[in-house]
Amino acid sequence: MSEECIKELSNKERMNLPYQEMPLHPGIERIKHFYEVPTGYTPEMAKAEAMRCIQCKTPACVAGCPVGIDIPAFIKLIEEGNPADAATKIRESNFLPAICGRVCPQDKQCQAVCIVGKKNDPVGIGCLERYAADYERENATLKMPDIPKSTGKKVAIIGAGPAGMTAAYELRTRGHEVVVFEAFHRAGGVLVYGIPRFRLPLEIIDEDIAFLEKIGVQFVYNMIIGKILTLDDLLESEGFDAVFIGSGAGLPKMLNIPGVNANGVYSANEYLTRIYLMQADKFPKFSTPLYQGKKVAVIGAGNTAMDTLRTAKRLGADTTCYYRRSRDEAPARSEEVEHAEDEYLNWKWLSNPVEFITDEDNFITAIKCEKMELSEPDDSGRRRPVPTGEFFTEDCDTAVLALGCDVNPIIPATDKKVRINKWGVIMVDETTCQTSKEGVFAAGDAITGGSTVILAMGQAKMAAKSIDKYLKGDLPDAPDVPTDPEHWVKEWKFS
Ligand code: FAD
Ligand code: SF4
Repeated sequence: MSEECIKELSNKERMNLPYQEMPLHPGIERIKHFYEVPTGYTPEMAKAEAMRCIQCKTPACVAGCPVGIDIPAFIKLIEEGNPADAATKIRESNFLPAICGRVCPQDKQCQAVCIVGKKNDPVGIGCLERYAADYERENATLKMPDIPKSTGKKVAIIGAGPAGMTAAYELRTRGHEVVVFEAFHRAGGVLVYGIPRFRLPLEIIDEDIAFLEKIGVQFVYNMIIGKILTLDDLLESEGFDAVFIGSGAGLPKMLNIPGVNANGVYSANEYLTRIYLMQADKFPKFSTPLYQGKKVAVIGAGNTAMDTLRTAKRLGADTTCYYRRSRDEAPARSEEVEHAEDEYLNWKWLSNPVEFITDEDNFITAIKCEKMELSEPDDSGRRRPVPTGEFFTEDCDTAVLALGCDVNPIIPATDKKVRINKWGVIMVDETTCQTSKEGVFAAGDAITGGSTVILAMGQAKMAAKSIDKYLKGDLPDAPDVPTDPEHWVKEWKFS
């Protein structure tokens, strides 16, 4: 379509244009490998999808984005055939567009409120973000940011996940010296050891880490803060002027049922970390082993459960999802459930595990579940599962619990000035992300419990802004009783 025709389209015509489905590797093929499932828009598809945006004067999508990306502006640039500038526009608010274009829950955020979505499919904002970011990567059009003259101030970042990476970027581009301390031997946090390669290829994360290194961020690996160095060590003997905690929520929740300690029962956190961080699927070439069964039971239906199911399937297992509610209540991104459904998995909805049955050597041999039915919605708005008194048993030789994670207690346990709430979540002032300890700020899963990449990034941006003010002496003292940020999981808005 010529430029003139594009301009002449009325809003009504634009809203009636068909949604451009993201092309995918077919299910039967993709379960044989770990390549990325979506293959990406072509330039023609990207333009056609961008044309569906009506450039709202008050764009609901921007308000729905936790980091406030100027969505209509970057979509317009794609429509005009300028993806490089579209990527630059996104980077004004989000320096990880290739990651967010792939993993953000757009269906619950920007796309959920897109005006076009009232009558038709919403504009594919995530697919377009991914397209612009991939164009930038593949054509090396990334513009390096100007780093101001050094302020002489030094900030320690704990954790190299999305929160730590974002805080590092925001503080470095304000001229501060930044050192990231990471417990593992590589950076990326859950992006590397949780989210599978078929959703987020490793080279994308590595390029973003290399970008941070290029702008002068230093990384120190195999360094557990709270064990090797304390917060006071960082602030006193190590000479840091402020500390940012982005240590995530890596403490898995387990079920309190018989057999949970059997051989072959894993938390999803351990299972995925063994595979994606330690490459246990290639044992003995790599030293970490994995007890990879032929029949794998996965408990839960969130993003982590979908990732575990699809990973086990790719490793050749007959894989079944057990979830105590129905498909409608599954908390995973809708796209992830749909992709999982195309991958020849088994689904046992309304099934609540009550026991892992074991052999005489304490290896798991079967899972016993109680059938559930749904009653009225509970506090979470989802219909509550209630037991029916009917049970069933199915064979399995591995079970993986994907029930979410709590905040790792190491840092608050070793510094009592950092206050936590009753769930172990680090408490911060909700307008500054300042903890109750002077000079210490926090963001991401460490202050919300398991959440999302973009929320972690939005909070880290706010924390970095506050740290910058603190370093200039413009921030009030640390609050004695910081706000309990537990509600942020549902209601967070970046301002
Ligand atoms: P993390 O990513 O957990 O990073 C914390 C880092 O801190 C880690 O590298 C850790 O090793 C390090 N660390 C911890 N303690 C210490 C210490 N004491 N000293 C030094 N370093 C330390 N979100 C989405 O938006 N979309 C998705 O599709 C999605 N899928 C997910 C799938 C899985 C399997 C999981 C587990 C989570 C998923 N999430 C998803 C959630 C998302 O990954 C997290 O919300 C996000 O990574 C939080 O970022 P963070 O930086 O706060 O923490
Ligand atoms: Fe475009 Fe939808 Fe945002 Fe409106 S709400 S500007 S149509 S993406």
